[in-house]
Amino acid sequence: MGSQSREFQGWLGLDADSVKGNMKWQSYAPKDWEETDVDIKISHCGICGSDIHTLRSGWKPSDYPVCVGHEIIGTAIRVGSAVKHVKVGDRVGVGAQSDSCQNRPGIRPNKDEDCAECAQGLESYCARMVGTYGSRHFNGGKSLGGYGLYNRAPGHFVIPIPEGLDSADAAPMLCAGVTVYSPLKRFGAGPGKKVGIVGLGGLGHFGVLFARALGADKVVAISRREDKRADALKLGADAYVATAEEEGWAKKHKSSLDLIISTVSSAQMPLGDYMGMLKAGGTLVQVGAPEDGALPINAFNLIGGGKKVAGSMIGSPSEITEMLRMAADKGVKPWVEKRAMKDANQAVLDMVAGNARYRYVLVNEGIENQVQAAL
Ligand code: NAP
Ligand code: ZN
Repeated sequence: MGSQSREFQGWLGLDADSVKGNMKWQSYAPKDWEETDVDIKISHCGICGSDIHTLRSGWKPSDYPVCVGHEIIGTAIRVGSAVKHVKVGDRVGVGAQSDSCQNRPGIRPNKDEDCAECAQGLESYCARMVGTYGSRHFNGGKSLGGYGLYNRAPGHFVIPIPEGLDSADAAPMLCAGVTVYSPLKRFGAGPGKKVGIVGLGGLGHFGVLFARALGADKVVAISRREDKRADALKLGADAYVATAEEEGWAKKHKSSLDLIISTVSSAQMPLGDYMGMLKAGGTLVQVGAPEDGALPINAFNLIGGGKKVAGSMIGSPSEITEMLRMAADKGVKPWVEKRAMKDANQAVLDMVAGNARYRYVLVNEGIENQVQAAL
């Protein structure tokens, strides 16, 4: 650990057993350098639920070896000549996306047409979205994430971090934060709106914080058990529902919310009862990503009350920038638990066990000195 060289090293998942505390610390080759890239010396990387799905090939067979982690903060140590918004020494971050077609001829999905998504700043919906890990860059190189010393990312997806935000707090905003911030904004959470957040994990706790920061009239945290009630209220929720332990909750909260964001990744959730919590015309936005993709919805949950179910995928670089600015201005303070990068295997085990309160962030100890030495 702690090599002074610029050799890319990190925790690699070599097979589905890697999620059981078996990632291996190894050297690996990043994508070939392009002048649109930035190399980042990683100081912090959050542990996202998606890292777990990927390590265990939950969604689909993963392209091992994988280096997961897409809540990356660090210092830019090499900046391509085509990158204008970042300079060497800047504190920067990379979220769950590290490329899209960006309307480049030969790369955009349709050779004769603009990519409407990239043109409108909706890069996370580009048909050629490249994930920060588990994907291929357009030059053929594998995308490899942040459980390591360095990350190489296309500059468009490298975001300057505003002063006033702690790096450990900013890291999980890059995926967990923006994944809830984006639909909260897009579906109008703010004054006059009552918002429910289902699943009080990494994403869900940001849901409560950001719904509050955006000025929603009422924020209801919807969890399974009682044990997170006090935390939810401290985070800023006005009310708390423990669906697995509270008698009569569905009836009590019927038709009370305008918007629900669901971060739950299990088809076992009582979706019909969540839909019942919506007022007529209300929307439930699903962001949790079940491994079998199932979302058990009954048509009558939609027909009665003219309700909607939507989905949402992370957020664009401009949304991330806007969210970070708001978090710095309003002093949004996530609950993070720092874990040493060398203990990443144990941190993954603890994440799988549901022990994070509410986001583990891996920290490269002494990284600041190493960055100074490397510059
Ligand atoms: P997390 O910290 O583990 O939180 C997930 C929460 O869901 C848990 O805290 C739990 O909340 C609830 N939950 C877990 N298992 C459940 C079950 N069987 N039934 C009901 N509720 C359950 O994970 P995360 O990092 O927030 O990620 C959540 C999901 O979002 C993952 O599937 C992840 O891949 C996905 N994700 C999607 C996007 C996107 O762009 N759409 C981006 C990032 C992550 P309670 O204990 O409060 O019930
Ligand atoms: Zn994520």
